[in-house]
Amino acid sequence: MTKIKFFSYASDIMPTITELTKTIERENLNVDIELVRLAYDFANQAHKGQTRKSGEPYINHPVGTAITLAKYHLDQDTIIAGLLHDVPEDTDYSLDDIRREFGDDVATLVEGITKLGKLKYRGIERYIENLRKMFIAMASDIRVIFIKFADRLYNLQTLYALPAKKQERIARETLEIYAPIANRLGIWQMKGQLEDFSFKYLYPKEYSSLREQLERYYSERENLLKQSRRQISAELKKENINVLEISGRTKDLWSIYKKIQTHNNELKSVHDIVALRVVVPTIAECYQALGIIHSKWRPMTNRFKDYIAQPKPNGYQSLHTTIFTEDGKSIEIQIRTLDMHRTAEYGIAAHWHYDERGSIKFDKKFEWMQELSKLHQELAKDKNYLDSIKIDVFQDRIFVFTPKGDVIDLPENATPIDFAYHIHTDIGNTTTAARVNNQMASLDTELRSGDMVEIITDKNRKGPNQDWLKFVKTTAAREKIKSSAPKSIFASIPGLRRF
Ligand code: MN
Repeated sequence: MTKIKFFSYASDIMPTITELTKTIERENLNVDIELVRLAYDFANQAHKGQTRKSGEPYINHPVGTAITLAKYHLDQDTIIAGLLHDVPEDTDYSLDDIRREFGDDVATLVEGITKLGKLKYRGIERYIENLRKMFIAMASDIRVIFIKFADRLYNLQTLYALPAKKQERIARETLEIYAPIANRLGIWQMKGQLEDFSFKYLYPKEYSSLREQLERYYSERENLLKQSRRQISAELKKENINVLEISGRTKDLWSIYKKIQTHNNELKSVHDIVALRVVVPTIAECYQALGIIHSKWRPMTNRFKDYIAQPKPNGYQSLHTTIFTEDGKSIEIQIRTLDMHRTAEYGIAAHWHYDERGSIKFDKKFEWMQELSKLHQELAKDKNYLDSIKIDVFQDRIFVFTPKGDVIDLPENATPIDFAYHIHTDIGNTTTAARVNNQMASLDTELRSGDMVEIITDKNRKGPNQDWLKFVKTTAAREKIKSSAPKSIFASIPGLRRF
């Protein structure tokens, strides 16, 4: 059986092209390796002679980013965009060069990440703007956010090379913006790594003291874990349960840190620091395995949770129970199917479907949008998160789609008329009807995040209806409706003037 790994970070990996192609092969991705090599050569040429603050060749950074993307099973365009993501900003090559060599889709991803990169965490104004841009970028194409996460993860690994002030800014931004988004998207592995790197720089003393305690804790438990793994595996096999995987998992440092703060700062009162994870093929076998384990080991009361019947809000599913081992110690067991396991590891990325062209299907965007608006609501509810910054960006903006999938950012309660004027004045002026999510809807319908809005126009229409002024929300729509009001009848009669 394999060794139980207690601390595993992306930094174990060498950022080389060989490692990248090996990762693509190992993860069995449907990716043209030759094209990836070409993108590498292009990036390598573009960044030639550049070094990072850490002293390493610059190319290590985009390659490391691309390796992370491959580990998360992102598609070919995203991996290539990961290799090229810093080219337009930092080299003599342009976005057009990328478009010419690698096509529109890759260029659009690189453009998205370049725009996002221009925003820095400096004070509240910028912070809000940054969040908004993140959400808009995410809604347009979620893959941009994955590149940003992978980029950030690499930067965190080499954060030691930066001045203290910059370290703090980057770590805080990661903890306050990136990690909550990763969490909402169910990408826990990423969330854990982003948090732990930030933890290290924001609270160095607490970090190293906890890490020391944990190393002691783990070495005390290692034999117990190995022994339990062997015993449970044997019992399940005896009952003909097909155990696909049984492995130890550890909790991330930042989440333990937060937990012990609510438990009188005592590590021993946290029960799920280490757990054994049992992966079986079917849901029926999850419950069977649970029954077998409970019949052999005494379960701790109030520690059983059925997240299969009642998934967590972010979609997480598993059975959790804590059992007592022979020597009176306790250990948490998590039982799940392979599908649940993949969802837990990769989050929403585990359920992507690509069409023939390799782009994410449109209906998947709706799911994203739903996740997005849930995140808005959650963050808005979380007092601690919001109090210091008084952020209202989540409450007062919505993101809706055009039929082509473009994202339009409007104020809350905006209507199809606001949408129409946002697209173009002529469209606003000739609007006769609207469809929202493929259903006919009245023109004063209040739109919500994730809605797909289609405007039906009639070019013979003389102009907007002044009654629209009663419900439009945007200043732009209001101004345009007013300005096209029919001229006063007096104006057309010679000799009469209006005062
Ligand atoms: Mn970068």
